[in-house]
Amino acid sequence: MALSSSSTSHRVSGQIVWTTIVLGTCMAIVCGFSASWAAGRIDALAQAQQRTAVRSALVQAAERFAADQDIVLEGGYFIGEDRNSGIDRNLTTDLGHDRTYLVGPDGAVLRASERGRYAGRAYQQGDGAVVKPIVERLRLKIASVQFDDPGLGVDGAIGLRAVEKVAFTNGDIGLLGVRPIDPPLDAPPVTGNEYLLVSIKIVTPAVLAEMSEHIGITGLARASRPVADASLPILGPNGNVLTYLVWNPSRPARGLLLEAAPALALMMIFGGALMAIILAWLRQTSLRLEASQAHATYFALHDPLTGAANRTLFDTKLREAGGYEYLAETKVLLISIDVDHFKQINDTWGHAAGDELLKEVAKRLQLEMPEDATIARLGGDEFAIVHPGIVGDGQARWICHRLVQCARTPFQIGQEALSVSLSIGAALERAEDVTPEEMMRRADVALYAAKVAGRDGMAMYEPAMDQEKRDRRRLEIELRNAILTGEGLQVVYQPIYSTKTHGVAAAEALVRWTHPMRGLLPPDMFIGLAEDCGIIDQLGMFVLRQAARFAVKTGLSRIAVNFSPVQFKNERLAEDVLAAIAEEGLSPERLEVEITEGMLLKNSQQVQRLLKTLREAGVSIALDDFGTGYASISYLRNYQVDKLKIDQSYTRLVSTDAAVGEIVRLIIGTAHALGMVVTAEGVEDVEQQKALAAMGCTYLQGYLLSRPLSAEQMQDMLDRGNHPRRAHG
Ligand code: C2E
Ligand code: MG
Ligand code: MG
Repeated sequence: MALSSSSTSHRVSGQIVWTTIVLGTCMAIVCGFSASWAAGRIDALAQAQQRTAVRSALVQAAERFAADQDIVLEGGYFIGEDRNSGIDRNLTTDLGHDRTYLVGPDGAVLRASERGRYAGRAYQQGDGAVVKPIVERLRLKIASVQFDDPGLGVDGAIGLRAVEKVAFTNGDIGLLGVRPIDPPLDAPPVTGNEYLLVSIKIVTPAVLAEMSEHIGITGLARASRPVADASLPILGPNGNVLTYLVWNPSRPARGLLLEAAPALALMMIFGGALMAIILAWLRQTSLRLEASQAHATYFALHDPLTGAANRTLFDTKLREAGGYEYLAETKVLLISIDVDHFKQINDTWGHAAGDELLKEVAKRLQLEMPEDATIARLGGDEFAIVHPGIVGDGQARWICHRLVQCARTPFQIGQEALSVSLSIGAALERAEDVTPEEMMRRADVALYAAKVAGRDGMAMYEPAMDQEKRDRRRLEIELRNAILTGEGLQVVYQPIYSTKTHGVAAAEALVRWTHPMRGLLPPDMFIGLAEDCGIIDQLGMFVLRQAARFAVKTGLSRIAVNFSPVQFKNERLAEDVLAAIAEEGLSPERLEVEITEGMLLKNSQQVQRLLKTLREAGVSIALDDFGTGYASISYLRNYQVDKLKIDQSYTRLVSTDAAVGEIVRLIIGTAHALGMVVTAEGVEDVEQQKALAAMGCTYLQGYLLSRPLSAEQMQDMLDRGNHPRRAHG
């Protein structure tokens, strides 16, 4: 679930990145095109302006050229061979015209001038062919004006003129100006055939350069063919193209773009890099966000310690499980699992080891189950599995057996190989028949049955189990009532004999319950129940008071009372015990508290403190059932225990199994070395009695010597001088 949401988020972030890249590229292309289009438009406008500037420069040049003729004509002029006088000289020297001609009424050249020099009476360099047609045309024009207005005379003709651009045979082009002038001082005016001043100015590269500079255009020159965007045709008198003027086209925008190109490229690279960094950062951030979301989702649905599903996910899977019933007859298997005596492991090896064990258990369960099963940790050592698609009871049992088996190989936790077992309860139902809650309840009922049956096993739910559970609930209520009223509860006493004196050294108080329906029940039948339902404290105090009262009454030198580990959770236990015996009038030295090995291994500060308080008050502490738990002899060094009670399982074999005999001898020897006394429990035959006595065991307890006795029997026996008479319980 978490994985699929994370892959969707990856797709989404990938899409964002790609969309941003594509949009960025599109924007760059659009900007590029827009800039290039705008630059083209600006350049085209600039080129149009250049063309207009060249055209108007030509017009101005022609006007100035004509105006030059007018300027020099003030005053008269002279026709002769004098080189230093005359209007032609002024034109070709001062005003830069190249050649001038004074043409008489008959068309003959009266005087030619070239660059300030008198040049005879003829056209120079084939100018005649160019000049004559224009002269002819002007004379026709003058004649037609004079014809229209005969009174106009010579003066009227003066205003008429021709200014043309012309090409010469040598390839030059130039301006050709013709205008009538007054007759020479020494000649009479001639109407209709005026004297004419012809002036030529060649458009040289120098002229073009000056024009260029004037209008701010570079590279102005003549060319035989036009150039795109930067040329202007020069037309002759007949409209024919004489030449083209070309120049360097102005491209201000492109120039600007080119100039700015390195800066723009840098900016684009920088911008691109910045965008890439921002994108990468965004991507990283979004990935981190997605990862933390996936993480959060995972932890919202999983147990952080074992990685198994948590209750929320488990409930969802259980509700969904019905959907798997795609095959007609399949059912949903719900398995409830408890790690047996997990609390003890936690108390003995510490919480870190407990946590490690839970992780390992979860791993093993996971390995046993197929993928479509969901394994959940519902709390503490409580696991549950929902497995849809089960075809029948046999398959369900087989799965549960495998789960029980999988825990039987010891778990390696740190340096220790821990042996644990699982209790498993299972319910196999059609999802449509029962609600998830009911299914869960049934699996729990089955689990309870598996525990009652001795743990380390499995049970499938059967309706009869509900009855058993109800029965146990009733038993619990009855036990509460018995403790409250004292009705049916009874304490019996088993004497403990000294191997030296053979007399009764003490007695162990053992509780019994005479149930109204079931008759006499041994403690194994109800101590666990009292522990489970929280009434062991009251039961313990009931036995303690009875025993103390009995000891006081009978004058028994010492009375041993069994204490459940659960009682040590009460931090006032020592005070309560001392107060109770004080009330009953028993001195602490006459009380022996029997505890089990697990209590010591717990090593909790509270247990240590309680035991210390009791010992300091004079109560002695006996370690019951020694050899059945984890405690080793070396371990005892650290604890203040007065007595060891060797368990019956050793006593049973002490005289028949040499190895066990050696172990018991070792235990007794070490206990003595540590200053403890030793009681052997469960002595049933004389061989055992002899063997233990020979090994130096201090006290003996067992059916051989006396079964547990009622208070009256015990009293009777004590009265008769310590000899057992009749057994009880
Ligand atoms: P325990 O403290 O080890 O007590 C000895 C048990 O061994 C008693 O069983 C006793 O009847 C039995 N026994 C004694 N001699 C022999 C023998 O020669 N052969 C065999 N086979 N058994 C022998 P009982 O009375 O059924 O008690 C069982 C356990 O219940 C006790 O084991 C003790 O752990 C617990 N218990 C009994 N009374 C109390 C009580 O008042 N409070 C608590 N917390 N636990 C109690
Ligand atoms: Mg005992
Ligand atoms: Mg015992």
